[in-house]
Amino acid sequence: MPEKGTSLPIPNGHDAFDLHVHTVYSVCRLNGNFLWNDGVCRPREVVRRAHLIGLKGLAITDHNTRSGVRSAKSEGKKHDVVVVGGSEIRSIEGMHIVALGAESIIEPFRPLQEIVEDIRNSGGVAVWAHPINLLGAFCLSFGHSEAFDALEINGAKPMFLNRILERNARKRRLKLVGGSDSHNLSTIGDAVTIFREPIDSEEDVIRNIRKGKIESRQYRTSLISRSCVYPQRFRLMGCSYLRKGVKWKMITNRVISGANRLRDNLKM
Ligand SMILES: [Zn+2]
Ligand SMILES: [Zn+2]
Repeated sequence: MPEKGTSLPIPNGHDAFDLHVHTVYSVCRLNGNFLWNDGVCRPREVVRRAHLIGLKGLAITDHNTRSGVRSAKSEGKKHDVVVVGGSEIRSIEGMHIVALGAESIIEPFRPLQEIVEDIRNSGGVAVWAHPINLLGAFCLSFGHSEAFDALEINGAKPMFLNRILERNARKRRLKLVGGSDSHNLSTIGDAVTIFREPIDSEEDVIRNIRKGKIESRQYRTSLISRSCVYPQRFRLMGCSYLRKGVKWKMITNRVISGANRLRDNLKM
């Protein structure tokens, strides 16, 4: 049973899932090169946290890898937590796509349509992760939204942005799922997907998303606890550079190319 005071206000008799959670396996890449590991918790820890706060399940959606899925699933069996295997990849257009339930590793940095087809062919659903951001709030383009199986209410975004997204999605009859985009334990469950039918397996999750028998909720957005993850992230980043024997010149080059990319993105 979840400890008192840590449970989320999930409607009675419904199963709630956090469909966007990162672990230590999450690997950020820049131009195809290794950059850093951006999650700070082990898969077992995130499964135990999900159980503690009363979630029925969660999706492990590390950047560019499914390495954390297996240990999360074995921990899930111990606590009756359903773990959905997934990953988060970036398309060549710059969109982040959460591949839920796709059995294979999906190659990033390709056209959106190709990535979505691959996800569906390997049995999954394609979710547009954080489709709205502060820069895009007032020039929101839904041009790509029809390509996805669902759009995401993202726990890392301010509530007012997610309200804008909800209104637009409702008008266009687009499906919405909820996920926290957690990189540490304390933000798990900030946004969730509520299922109207009981969920016992990964297949149940995917089938219900396809049918649209879902609702999304954002309980809070926690900028402070999210920024607390940065010192840990930088420590891990340093450790991974040392492990891989990366030279300082390479790190400097990557920072410079990252800054150039950001500048190009802002110009677009
Ligand atoms: Zn993302
Ligand atoms: Zn993410």
